[in-house]
Amino acid sequence: MLEIYRDPLCGRLLAPVAITPKSEYRGKTYYFCCDLCKQLFDREPQKYALEKDGKDEQNIKGDRHVMAKNS
Ligand SMILES: [Zn+2]
Repeated sequence: MLEIYRDPLCGRLLAPVAITPKSEYRGKTYYFCCDLCKQLFDREPQKYALEKDGKDEQNIKGDRHVMAKNS
């Protein structure tokens, strides 16, 4: 069964493969849609990790990139 993870930055859902950018924070693994998301996460992991464990069951919020929002 495929495991789906949510990119904590932009909310994209991912099925990680070997080349998927990922980062560990407080013992949990987070996956990212691209290296940029990973870099931003690594800079301020506490801002994005929150209470989530990186997995998302049904709470799919769609496909928005936070970067555009915060400028
Ligand atoms: Zn992303």
